[in-house]
Amino acid sequence: MRNKKVGIYVHIPFCARKCPYCDFCSFEGSSAEEREAYTAALCREIASYREALADYTADTVYFGGGTPSMLAAEQTERVLRAICSAVPLAPDAEITSEVNPATADAEKLRAWRGMGINRLSVGVQSFCDTELAALGRLHTAGQAQDFLSLAGTCGFDNVSLDLMYAIPTETPETLGTTLSRAIETGVKHISAYSLKIEDGTPFAAMRRKLILPDEDAEADLYAQCIDTLAQAGYRHYEISNYALPGYECRHNLRYWRMEEYIGVGVAAYSFFDGKRYGCDRDLAAYLHRDFTKPPISGTPLTPAQREYETVMLALRLREGIEEEAFRRAFGYGFFEKYGRRLAPFLTHGLAARDGTRTYLTDRGLYVSLGVLAEILDDPA
Ligand code: SF4
Repeated sequence: MRNKKVGIYVHIPFCARKCPYCDFCSFEGSSAEEREAYTAALCREIASYREALADYTADTVYFGGGTPSMLAAEQTERVLRAICSAVPLAPDAEITSEVNPATADAEKLRAWRGMGINRLSVGVQSFCDTELAALGRLHTAGQAQDFLSLAGTCGFDNVSLDLMYAIPTETPETLGTTLSRAIETGVKHISAYSLKIEDGTPFAAMRRKLILPDEDAEADLYAQCIDTLAQAGYRHYEISNYALPGYECRHNLRYWRMEEYIGVGVAAYSFFDGKRYGCDRDLAAYLHRDFTKPPISGTPLTPAQREYETVMLALRLREGIEEEAFRRAFGYGFFEKYGRRLAPFLTHGLAARDGTRTYLTDRGLYVSLGVLAEILDDPA
């Protein structure tokens, strides 16, 4: 009886060119042989899970990266077939692929739609050409717009845009332009992340030369995203994510709700069988793994770790934490245990209660890490 649900994340670590701000596990300059060997390794890894998934149905699949559109359509299809051989897909499964407007054409999009991919997450970042150039992106605003029209023509009606704010030279006016143009495209979902300067990236090396907004200006840009998108009907359902009603990303909700998922590929992480485990970033080693058994490893989370992670993740979501659901999981209500520590945040409008649900407000979400540091104990 397959009565459990799982999500499958597939990491594709190839990019046409490495963006100077990016510290994801992605490599430029891959060869056709490397991508083929990677496809084969992914299929081996997925197949190794077949027995472990005997009780499961997959209701979400997510191709992320890197740039999943760097694989040929036929390679993506092989990976999808491997998934279907290891675990049945729910009839209404959400199957997403990230895509870079510069690396997919109508032929690939039609092939994707034909094999069952029904949601796109398009890395646009900005609709201002000067900002795209500053970010080292390969596409212009016009090309992104054309790509979104093409996606609609090729049968994709569930499309998400990735935007970035707090990028060099950005002003409230340019962010306003980007948000308006994003809304005009009619996409169902928008992710808007602030640019973070990650150690080890080219942006970190040139940090002093970058003209970046200060903390207050960044908070204002965040508030501008929330207000503008709310006026257009996009619900702010997670710190950095906005959706028209019913179009929240089901796969990403799994992460925030502590539901099981398996990540396959280099640098992919899983939460399965009560354990968190993952693969390192060594692509060459990954290509040679034989996967005679699934790479499930580690020990199950302790109750304290589980509670800590539940609170950390659930408070990213606007839905917050429901008292009784928390009690069923941990033996006491969330507010019952954390209410006293939350009191100052409730007083200052950073947290709120709605019936038996406790959540962080828009202002609270912006400083959520600080709030969590105050209310949570180290679970170690
Ligand atoms: S396309 Fe995405 S994953 Fe690739 S380098 Fe740029 S930001 Fe990173």
